[in-house]
Amino acid sequence: MNPTIMKFGGTSVEDASAFRNVAAIVSAGVASRPVVVVSAIAGFTNALLASVQKAIEGDARAATKSLDHDLRRHISIARELLKADSCAAFELTIAVARREIRQLHKIIAMHPVTHPPLQDEIVAYGEQLCSQLLAAVLRENQLAARYVDARRCLRTDDSYGNAGPVPETAPATRAELLPLLESSRIPVLGGFIGSTGNGVTTTLGRGGSDYSAAIIGAALDAREIQIWTDVSGVLTADPRIVNKARTIPVLSYQEAAELAYFGAKVLHPRTIQPAIDRRIPVRVCNSRAADGASTLIVAESEAAPQTVKAIAHKNGITTVQVSSARMLGAYGFLRALFEVFDRHRTAVDVVTTSEVSVSLSIDDASALPELLPDLEQLGAVEVEEHRTIISIIGEGLRNTPGIAARVFSEISDINVTMISVGASSVNLTFMVEESRAAETIKRLHYVCFEDERAGSAAKINIAEEAIA
Ligand code: ADP
Ligand code: ASP
Ligand code: MG
Repeated sequence: MNPTIMKFGGTSVEDASAFRNVAAIVSAGVASRPVVVVSAIAGFTNALLASVQKAIEGDARAATKSLDHDLRRHISIARELLKADSCAAFELTIAVARREIRQLHKIIAMHPVTHPPLQDEIVAYGEQLCSQLLAAVLRENQLAARYVDARRCLRTDDSYGNAGPVPETAPATRAELLPLLESSRIPVLGGFIGSTGNGVTTTLGRGGSDYSAAIIGAALDAREIQIWTDVSGVLTADPRIVNKARTIPVLSYQEAAELAYFGAKVLHPRTIQPAIDRRIPVRVCNSRAADGASTLIVAESEAAPQTVKAIAHKNGITTVQVSSARMLGAYGFLRALFEVFDRHRTAVDVVTTSEVSVSLSIDDASALPELLPDLEQLGAVEVEEHRTIISIIGEGLRNTPGIAARVFSEISDINVTMISVGASSVNLTFMVEESRAAETIKRLHYVCFEDERAGSAAKINIAEEAIA
């Protein structure tokens, strides 16, 4: 039988009782040949990154000291869940890690320019320590768990902080993990981390453990990739905004990819691609309610085509409008425009065009000060900050007329810009001011999923759910 990847996020390992839940979930899944991928304990990656900043500012001592609280959290989990000898071994691991991190902080404080690779080296301790602790806890629960250094599997380029996998990953992962699986062991690896061809540590970008799980799943041709988190699957909207958000039972790969891309934090945006490549189902489950609702993500043909499945959003967006009469009927303008973004390594999310202007949205505006003078060569530039992209997503948008009319009539008093129907036609995307975003999402959720009146999108969704 092909293995099952079980990935546990930070909140699924935040304290001893969360570790107990994970042990119970892995125990229940032993027959599915699990490979366990785990994030750092909740909050530790943020603390590690903040410590690097302190070191850059020159205070190496304060940098290391700032980690002591989280290092102690590891130790108290170990003391609660491990027997004396394995606890002592883990406490030694923590002490060694602290010494190594201390050295790295000192180097950064003296030579701040060295920080990108050293930052990844430091941040990787989050996943390294957690995976070692989890392997020990699983062994304490009579499971044949083996810690594996994920950097031996996940081979990446050298884009520190946002590395991408290279083709050597698949054979390396198979070479490391298949022998363990063949002898009925349970490999336990940290997510989010990898290494370059020269053995230098890298990380895959924030939230990247989901992506690690999918990459490892693809390499092993897993039967399923399970993402265990703190909510019951992918929900119809961000539950921090909509308290009536409910679990979506089935999503197509494309719907899930769009949702992740347009801000649903529950999945890292790059998670779905490796699954699509091998047609591996992805399941999103709640580690705090293992038998409760979950979401299954599968190929389009197997997914129930409801009209609208979910509303995603992404705050902190900047929009840039470039206007120029030179655009009118001319060619080459868009190429020149995109070359500017390319040169400044700035990704564009949404683009809309009119006769003489182009509007673009960008998530990471850090290069804007250098980028703007180049854009101004092309035309008049207007920048607006603090926008939110809202995306309504569902395979049913392809062929259900009238959805846009219903959506926009519901929010006719809110200023909406950059409306676009994604090229995939499973999303309807637009921009609002960040200060109106929560209200917009709540109202749209009501009309799409809660309203029982005839003619509402919710009504159509319910009817189609019944047919499916
Ligand atoms: P993990 O540590 O398990 O990776 P994350 O915090 O990265 O967990 O992702 C889970 C969180 O994503 C949820 O707690 C929720 O607040 C947020 N979220 C945003 N949009 C959605 C959505 N549509 N469905 C589910 N969760 C969402
Ligand atoms: N620990 C990493 C982060 O906080 C990776 C992850 O959680 O997936 O970004
Ligand atoms: Mg996450």
